[in-house]
Amino acid sequence: LVRLRQRLAGSQGGLGRGLLALLSRDRLDEDTWESIEDTLLTADVGVTPTRELVEHLRTRLRVEGSPEDARSVLREELLNLVGPDMDRRLQVTGADGNPGVVLVVGVNGSGKTTTVGKISRILVAEDRSVVLGAADTFRAAAVEQLATWGERVGVDVVRGPEGTDPASVAFEAVKEGVATGADTVIVDTAGRLQNKAGLMDELGKVKRVIEKQAPVTEVLLVLDATTGQNGLIQARVFSEVVDVTGIVLTKLDGSAKGGIVVQVQRELGVPVKLVGLGEGPDDLAPFDPGAFVDALLG
Ligand code: GDP
Repeated sequence: LVRLRQRLAGSQGGLGRGLLALLSRDRLDEDTWESIEDTLLTADVGVTPTRELVEHLRTRLRVEGSPEDARSVLREELLNLVGPDMDRRLQVTGADGNPGVVLVVGVNGSGKTTTVGKISRILVAEDRSVVLGAADTFRAAAVEQLATWGERVGVDVVRGPEGTDPASVAFEAVKEGVATGADTVIVDTAGRLQNKAGLMDELGKVKRVIEKQAPVTEVLLVLDATTGQNGLIQARVFSEVVDVTGIVLTKLDGSAKGGIVVQVQRELGVPVKLVGLGEGPDDLAPFDPGAFVDALLG
């Protein structure tokens, strides 16, 4: 929590603290409510959630009234917004002797490859055996980058020559995972959003060839939290192409605004499962709504 707070502190513009300051004013007049709305919108909370939150706050604080209540009421309402009861466990374990298969999708630059590396590190630390598939074959750099992660973490990386069909790399990776009795195979995919049909073909094929061998247990969509509305539009496209089961929100340590958590979960109906808090190997954390809200409130 301390680390989360430190990482969020610089960038979130003190969303929680700003709101608290406004709510602690002697008089909660219309100007104040407007400022509260602006603060939420600026933090990427989105129009509808902002309206709902302000309505709840207005009702509750009018009745309960004293500034002393403001913090606990705000905490409760922010927590509700973030979805405290969603199942955020990663499905990394397969059934019937199969490895768990995690497909990682998202646009280039969102932090996919880094996230694959970080997840594999966490799994290895839990004594799981992991195979990585470098199916982002359109960027030689991506394959190299994953290979470097593999060496660093000590896991096998299945790769093909530059330009290889991503599906064939995915196939080989899962094949190796099955053959070696690995616990989890993680497949890094290409994120060329040239057009929806192309993406659909490519990811559809990757998924089909994998599922000839073992069911995909998790489809993680990696989203750069600093990209705001643009990122949301991309997220929607991916979710129309594959059945996303979890979201990884990266770069929350940067200039991101924490409210994007709320919007993307509403938009896709899928929980944020992990957050990226930096470029280092340990900078990936399970998303914990309570800790997140506490960090926002400072
Ligand atoms: P990909 O193209 O989606 O595979 O993206 P990469 O994994 O290559 O990441 C793109 C850039 O974002 C790299 O410079 C990463 O180090 C950086 N990056 C990834 N995740 C995070 C994060 O959580 N925080 C920060 N600050 N940078 C990140």
